[in-house]
Amino acid sequence: MKKVSMGNSSIESSRFIYGCMRIAGDNSASNRIKGKTAIMAALEAGYNHFDHADIYGGGASESIFGELLAEKPHLREQIILTSKAGIRPRNNDHDTYAPTRYDFSQPYLLASVEGSLKRLNTDHLDMFLLHRPDYLFDVHEVAETFALLKASGKVKHFGVSNFKPSQVELLKSALAMPLLVNQVEINIHNIDTLLDGTLDQCQQHGITPIAWCPLGGVAYSAWGNTFSGEDEQRIENELSQQSEKYACTPWQVILAWLLKHPANICPIIGSTTPERIVAAKQALILDYSREDWYRLLEARNGQAVA
Ligand code: NAP
Repeated sequence: MKKVSMGNSSIESSRFIYGCMRIAGDNSASNRIKGKTAIMAALEAGYNHFDHADIYGGGASESIFGELLAEKPHLREQIILTSKAGIRPRNNDHDTYAPTRYDFSQPYLLASVEGSLKRLNTDHLDMFLLHRPDYLFDVHEVAETFALLKASGKVKHFGVSNFKPSQVELLKSALAMPLLVNQVEINIHNIDTLLDGTLDQCQQHGITPIAWCPLGGVAYSAWGNTFSGEDEQRIENELSQQSEKYACTPWQVILAWLLKHPANICPIIGSTTPERIVAAKQALILDYSREDWYRLLEARNGQAVA
């Protein structure tokens, strides 16, 4: 599969990243096998970059991946492993009750990385991302935490997720190393990053935008989907015409729509169905036009751009 650099680094990632959020399912034995089958399908299809977070499946997603690495240790040097932390689940013990919160404190992040390394059965992460901006984060504390993780060799490179441009600027101002990526939701429903300066900032500073939930609003209901039935019909009609023109499926058109953006968006494919993991690659070879890009935007918005 076509490769792209993460930020300005020497990390060469497949253009599609495989997202491991769903690989544990309900963590039953059959779902764990299904999860491993999906990972192997992604590897065979040329995905070399796997996205995790400490909280996916309550840690089970990383454990399944770690089991696979224990069975096939040679795979570790062939792949890029990314994990995220900073969303701290609630503690329901009534004596020590704490709500779900964001936590970028040094002890919490260091312990989270240790947990990910153990579950993934590896001695380092290629990239570590802050999962969602902690409203209370101390930028100097985070900078020191990143420096400690880098010096220990436990994390090679750093990035963020769901950060607004101002939050990226703030963090960058205190860091001794570059931020390689900003992992954000981008799909036909949620186009915030097109409008709020995120994708402009990525291009200006050599930050790779990684798109989570790339099929939200089309193949899969976006989180907080606000499309009306009429909106959906209009989008489906346009996708149907375009998929006929490009001889592909509507959801492959959606991926091509993301790939067309000059910021070099890298979508994360989160399907656990091997056929879909493989079929996504079709989007990479479509010669998708500017006119079709705007036609789909118009169908999404229900009106032409001014
Ligand atoms: P996705 O790839 O857009 O959606 C996956 C879901 O859509 C799965 O339930 C999948 O079902 C279904 N699907 C995919 N293709 C389909 C098709 N052609 N027809 C019908 N259903 C289809 O995105 P995602 O899993 O929500 O997110 C991808 C990755 O992004 C995650 O794995 C995770 O690594 C990352 N992520 C990051 C954040 C963040 O805050 N940073 C948040 C969410 C996710 P099947 O499995 O049955 O194919």
